[in-house]
Amino acid sequence: MTPRRAPASAGSVTLVGAGPGDPGLLTLRGLGALRSADAVVYDRLVASEILDFLSPDAERIYAGKATGRHAMRQEDINTALIRLAREGKNVVRLKGGDPFLFGRGGEECEALASAGIGFEVVPGVTSAIAGPAAAGIPVTHREMAASVAIVTAHEASGGAGVRLDWDALARIDTVVLLMGVDRLAEATNALMRAGRPRGTPAAVVASATLPSQRTVVGTLGTIAAEARRGGITPPAVTVVGDVASLRERFGGWDTRPLSGVSCLVTRTREQASELSGVLRELGADVVEAPSIRVEPPRAWTTVDRAIAALARGTYDWTIFTSANGVRIFFGRLGELRLDARAFGGVQVAAIGTGTAAVLAAEGIRAELVPDSFTTEAVGVAFPAGAGRVLLARADVGEPGLEEAITAKGWHCDRVVVYRLRSVARLETSVRKRVIAGDIDVLTFASGGTVHAFMSLLGTRPPPSVKVACIGPVTAKAAREVGLRVDAIADEHTISGLAAATVAAAAKGPRREKRKMSVSPSRTKRR
Ligand code: SAH
Repeated sequence: MTPRRAPASAGSVTLVGAGPGDPGLLTLRGLGALRSADAVVYDRLVASEILDFLSPDAERIYAGKATGRHAMRQEDINTALIRLAREGKNVVRLKGGDPFLFGRGGEECEALASAGIGFEVVPGVTSAIAGPAAAGIPVTHREMAASVAIVTAHEASGGAGVRLDWDALARIDTVVLLMGVDRLAEATNALMRAGRPRGTPAAVVASATLPSQRTVVGTLGTIAAEARRGGITPPAVTVVGDVASLRERFGGWDTRPLSGVSCLVTRTREQASELSGVLRELGADVVEAPSIRVEPPRAWTTVDRAIAALARGTYDWTIFTSANGVRIFFGRLGELRLDARAFGGVQVAAIGTGTAAVLAAEGIRAELVPDSFTTEAVGVAFPAGAGRVLLARADVGEPGLEEAITAKGWHCDRVVVYRLRSVARLETSVRKRVIAGDIDVLTFASGGTVHAFMSLLGTRPPPSVKVACIGPVTAKAAREVGLRVDAIADEHTISGLAAATVAAAAKGPRREKRKMSVSPSRTKRR
């Protein structure tokens, strides 16, 4: 079907497959479409981290689709897509896995085509293949499986069930069942009635590629009962065939240092993704629980006065002690229709390479970055002199730096460019997991986060939970609130913190993986 050309002024719709869950499995083209979307209509199975790629002012419409509970009916989704595109918007229709595999993508294309709206389809990594793979199961394998069928277990019972030819399916080497974990018994019985042996290996992978991934293994005869006993809940894929036995050989081969380790990232929502990304690459299951948020100052008066003074050449130095400070300061400069030129010949100090990188993106090269990225080190490295220094900081923070600068002969103006506030509460599920010891490593990138997190938690985590800190100041804050610090980053940067997380995870006995496979050979998750 060739879509009719829509008028140039009209918007269009891109159907994007979001992949099975892990944001790393979104395609580059999908990412590009998300970044430039004016509006997105998304399904339930799309991970929230993927929505973080949207521009903050993109319109977000939730189309639901929990089993049996649709937030929006399909016709309403079609209507919404058409309406948004007619408003001239770049619309993304974001779906779990691949849009054309049990995703009703075809129906949406039909509706768009008949409305004369241009559309494009960006395929996605499907859970039907990535789900088994995440548990170490290839859906085909030489001399073992040369054919795969992907079917919906929904069709196993009831009227629609007649549409499936179970006799034919029983002869396919690998059968992957999507949807309907509650109908698993009907589907497996249908396969057995059609002649597939009871002893055929089978596995169920729930929440594949997500931190909460779980795998249950058994045989065609036992898998439905195993899944029920294991408390498997949707979304889950079931794979039936000899390939399911390969999990025992392949399932434990993820040798990345944080494979099977769950890590909590407590940074602000805006800052979390960088650390989460590095930890995920190391194999970790990352849970984000922002404990603090950044807010602009109550009033801009003081900042504006400092900016005016800066532009007049009042200052000899400006010091930034965080990337947040730089971003907010330059945001305000922009609002005042100014830019890096306001700095003129002012010298700039940054607490670390992260802050220096954000400055560099604004066109400012930091003259001073101490070897060790702490406020104390800035004070030590700062030259002696007699002029004026602008210190752009958060409202919280020790006065030690001003004192050190003043002691070196400078007049120091401390200006609060942003405020750090504790978030209202931790997500209940995250809080429960930490208290139950179901998180392996807590990561902290600032003392403020330690305090905020611990007061939100309201209790100390069990001793099995390890703690990794970005530097000595953060570690001190952690010890003050009664945490045992297992590793402190040598280099006080995000990659340093990731290395400390690896070191913390390797300490002492690893937590028993209760949520892992119930397979007799205790293979690692993933
Ligand atoms: N278009 C999607 C499938 C949509 S049907 C795709 O290509 O993946 C929804 C079903 O997909 C769920 O009921 C479940 O069987 C499966 N599914 C989706 N995400 C999953 C995940 N992360 N883990 C396991 N199964 C998943």
